[in-house]
Amino acid sequence: MKTKKNTSVTCITYPKELASSERSKNFSEVVFGLCEEEMLREASRCLQCKKPACIAGCPVGIDIKTFIYKLTRKDYAGAHYTIKEKNNFPSICGRVCPAEYQCRYACVLNKKKLPFASEEAINIHFLERFAGDYGVNNNLEALMSAGQEFSKYRVAVVGSGPAGLCCSGELARRGIKVVVFEGLQAFGGVLRYGIPPFRLPRDILDYEINHLKKLGVEFVPNFIIGRIKTLKELFSEGFSAIFLGLGAGTPSFLGVKGENLCNIYSANEFLTRVNLMSAYKFPEFHTPVNIGKKMLVIGGGNTAMDAARVALRLQKMQGLAADTTIVYRRTEVELPARRLEIGHAKEEGVVFRFLVQPVEFVGDEKGFVRKIKCLQCQLGDPDDSGRRRPVAIEGSDFEIACDAAIIAVGLQANQILTGVTPELKVDKYADLIVDAQTMETSLKGVFAGGDIVGGEGTVIEAMGMAKKAARAIINYLSKKT
Ligand code: FAD
Ligand code: SF4
Repeated sequence: MKTKKNTSVTCITYPKELASSERSKNFSEVVFGLCEEEMLREASRCLQCKKPACIAGCPVGIDIKTFIYKLTRKDYAGAHYTIKEKNNFPSICGRVCPAEYQCRYACVLNKKKLPFASEEAINIHFLERFAGDYGVNNNLEALMSAGQEFSKYRVAVVGSGPAGLCCSGELARRGIKVVVFEGLQAFGGVLRYGIPPFRLPRDILDYEINHLKKLGVEFVPNFIIGRIKTLKELFSEGFSAIFLGLGAGTPSFLGVKGENLCNIYSANEFLTRVNLMSAYKFPEFHTPVNIGKKMLVIGGGNTAMDAARVALRLQKMQGLAADTTIVYRRTEVELPARRLEIGHAKEEGVVFRFLVQPVEFVGDEKGFVRKIKCLQCQLGDPDDSGRRRPVAIEGSDFEIACDAAIIAVGLQANQILTGVTPELKVDKYADLIVDAQTMETSLKGVFAGGDIVGGEGTVIEAMGMAKKAARAIINYLSKKT
């Protein structure tokens, strides 16, 4: 256990972790979670502020102060239900929420003015994980009864990412018959195909999905709405309303010369091959993925961290020396990834090269990538996001050798459904335009939430929108009644 001295009476408590020498050879979960004693020690640091700033920092407004208080009183079920009022999947969010930019950033114990919370801020996400896991381990979900007042209605949910799952649960609990249509062969969206199991074990995700099944939610895999069926057809089959949780599954690219060479992947493709199609279990699963001796990952977000940590694991599992480098245009401070993941990537041996802008991929005579040409950057004035803009330095050209590269520079809306449904209004990024209060789209009875609204966000933001949409759907059905 890592414990660090604090200026206050007690000290900051972190959970135990798998040793870095162990973790890079497998996909086992890295962070173990706090045991009861550690959790109580961390919870006891909370000041129970009169005006708890942390709540305003949470995108869905979880009553953090109250759930932490209940933890200190050992009322673990109470803490679990307090979180569940706002967040359907605390076990998941406790593992993946970028708390250092959200609730922990707002916590009064965060004194330093960095773009992310300093370590003194309460480890709210680890406490949330404890309460969430308590619920999973004690099957508290099963005790939550489903109402029957809307049982004559059927609602279609398109997409089974956190937005779709959250909306389904909210509706099913009111007795609504929910059918989830998912384009892929497995459910969970990015939680399944993007975030690796060493960050989010699949039994946690499976538990939540199985619970929804027990509530009566029907899951239909390999079913792309917009190809197999249109929204109009769903309505004519008797669905009273539709929720769209389509996510942002189309990768962005750099748009530089040579980007179509062999062994250059989008992070989405790379992670999907590994996480969804179990490439890391080859030859048990017949879906290998080409791993280079020198892997480059371009980008600095969670996707880049995940891709790099997966690439490094695969190198080691295949008996290669660990040689995976992240190339990022800004500096470490501006990296948008979770700080915990950045730390883990470093511990595992991922190398970081900052202030580097790739300008061209160069291949060999067979069409395989061999190196990238780059320019050195310096930081200029802040851009619209408030982060300082990278400015390439003229004449600073240099090259980095590589035999595989992964592009992780962002995701956009996929337009499979919106492209064939002109009644759905989209913005210039092809994201759905919705009413901010009801999450209803321009098509009556069709609601939306998650990354398809407003672009790439976070798991908790997707669930927040889905919960809002579910409330509006229930209101919409009440009016029909
Ligand atoms: P998604 O999770 O993308 O799910 C959408 C689902 O809809 C997919 O399964 C897709 O197949 C399906 N679908 C799309 N179109 C159709 C159609 N026409 N018919 C049927 N099905 C369809 N956020 C965090 O908070 N913390 C993290 O640590 C974090 N790490 C991330 C790591 C990676 C690699 C990535 C890519 C994202 C990460 N994010 C993280 C962001 C987060 O995962 C997303 O914000 C969140 O998953 C969005 O949820 P969603 O339900 O809107 O979409
Ligand atoms: Fe105050 Fe931080 Fe505790 Fe919230 S988590 S009540 S801001 S000390």
